[in-house]
Amino acid sequence: MANEYEVIIIGGGPAGLSAGLYTSRARLKSLLIEMGPPGGQITDAELVENYPGFPQGISGLELGQLIHQQATRYGLETLQAEATGLELQGEKRVVITTKGKFTAKAVIIASGSERQKLGIAGEEGLTGKGVSYCATCDGPFFKEGTVAVVGGGDVAITEALHLAKFASRVKVIHRRNELRATRILEERAQAEPKIEFLWDTKVEGIEGKDRVKRLNLSNAKSGEKSTLDVVGVFVAIGFKPNTDYLKGFLPLDKAGFIITNERMETKIPGVFAAGDVRLNSAQQAITAAGDGATAAVFVAKFLSG
Ligand SMILES: Cc1cc2nc3c(=O)[nH]c(=O)nc-3n(C[C@H](O)[C@H](O)[C@H](O)COP(=O)(O)OP(=O)(O)OC[C@H]3O[C@@H](n4cnc5c(N)ncnc54)[C@H](O)[C@@H]3O)c2cc1C
Repeated sequence: MANEYEVIIIGGGPAGLSAGLYTSRARLKSLLIEMGPPGGQITDAELVENYPGFPQGISGLELGQLIHQQATRYGLETLQAEATGLELQGEKRVVITTKGKFTAKAVIIASGSERQKLGIAGEEGLTGKGVSYCATCDGPFFKEGTVAVVGGGDVAITEALHLAKFASRVKVIHRRNELRATRILEERAQAEPKIEFLWDTKVEGIEGKDRVKRLNLSNAKSGEKSTLDVVGVFVAIGFKPNTDYLKGFLPLDKAGFIITNERMETKIPGVFAAGDVRLNSAQQAITAAGDGATAAVFVAKFLSG
């Protein structure tokens, strides 16, 4: 049957593509469903310095394209569609998509995660008008003036360093008094004269009519209010797993991440999860790729009984 597979993989980032590389080389009839361009989030990274095999680093876009190229070399089929649900039909797992239903004996969920929103006044209305979730994509638009980065982890500091190439000043706004970012990134940010840190500070609102003009801030300790004039604000406060379409099908943790064991198995036999969508994932391209390979190896074992 045209829509029947041994394995269906949802998501075409490093986890899904690595899973597809392994299942197709194991000669399992495999379909990878991806709703966007291939490569996943890593394609937003300007330079990836920690993916083994590229001693000089590699652009995220190129890395995503190379992984896709390698994964599709051995017969992996791909479909550009959004998975909107998953159900069991006897021994079959049915993936419901915007382009119809597809069945498989096993499914690997690798739908990753997306940037978390601040959920404050002005954020939604000014998105694309100075509010951004991707410095790599939008940084070059901010050549003059002060921009803010909200967050204190690796992504926030990477974004700040990138923005320092364009903007006049970069203010990193963090609600704690120390960063969660890796030390080497922190050292680079501290050494960059354009970057300044606002510690213990929360962003409460974003003001502006047609463009972002000002942030309303409060001190996390004293509650003291202040404002900061900016031309742009980059939100980098974490990730929300792409699992809304799985609610009611799979047990998820409070934030929506999928719980797996070390074989990447979920509570439902034949349903595996890999990469950033998993609870306690290290949220790195290499660990996502490793998860994908692990899931594929145990899918093959599951299918051979
Ligand atoms: C700006 C930036 C810089 C980064 N830099 C680095 C770095 O230097 N080094 C590093 O190791 N990591 C880096 N990362 C993190 C890395 O990109 C992720 O950890 C990795 O991409 C996770 O892979 P994944 O396959 O689990 O998920 P993702 O890459 O998120 O891929 C998931 C895919 O699933 C698709 N999808 C989602 N829902 C559905 C659905 N319902 N139906 C169909 N498709 C769906 C999405 O479109 C997406 O393509 C960076 C991330 C960002 C954003």
